[in-house]
Amino acid sequence: MPATVLVVEDEPAIQELISYKLRNAGHVVLCANSAEQAELMVNNVLPDLVLLDWMLPKKSGIEFAQKLRRETRTKTLPIIMLTARIEENDKVSALAEIGVDDYITKPFSPRELIARIKAVLRRRMPETSDDIIEMGGLTLNPRTHRVTCNDDGKSNSIEVILGPTEFRLLHYLMTHTERVHTRTQLLDRVWGDHVFVEDRTVDVHIRRLRKALEEVDKDNLVQTVRGIGYRFSVVSKE
Ligand code: CA
Repeated sequence: MPATVLVVEDEPAIQELISYKLRNAGHVVLCANSAEQAELMVNNVLPDLVLLDWMLPKKSGIEFAQKLRRETRTKTLPIIMLTARIEENDKVSALAEIGVDDYITKPFSPRELIARIKAVLRRRMPETSDDIIEMGGLTLNPRTHRVTCNDDGKSNSIEVILGPTEFRLLHYLMTHTERVHTRTQLLDRVWGDHVFVEDRTVDVHIRRLRKALEEVDKDNLVQTVRGIGYRFSVVSKE
């Protein structure tokens, strides 16, 4: 499971070693020498995990971890702290309090580091289901990425041709039906990290999704709730 890992470490030799090992394990690695630099990087791209050294120049790793936990966007960002042995005893409880996912004591073996990263990522993986969903005459198969329309009375099912984003959007809506989702919520859940994406992007993809569904006369399933957002509903709109 390749991930984007942000390594925050001020010692060049350690930073280099960690990056090398992580890249070898198939991860994409971003490096920062300080919490301040890491903060700027996180604002740009949300990594899948942060490997954070405790002792950093100026702002400490702990302060940075606290900040990440305070903000909505980074509240659940997985964090593994790197600590020196001397810091360990009295600070383990502090780590638990902040809610970091794990910590590793220096010196550590790269193999252990990779294993810990893997374990944290596995724990934090969003629940995705491969179950086939049938609703309102549509059948969505997450494994084959196919959507078909098979209304009763029609002998053949017709395939609905969707782009990857429209597919993810429809998948999300079909697993969270009858609820109204704001554009921001959809960006968060479907696009993941919405820093580069504007709200109106959602409208563009909703429009494309509806157009595709129109081909099988199912565009009424994706409804606009004026002033709020969108909803997938099998109950027809007035
Ligand atoms: Ca350090």
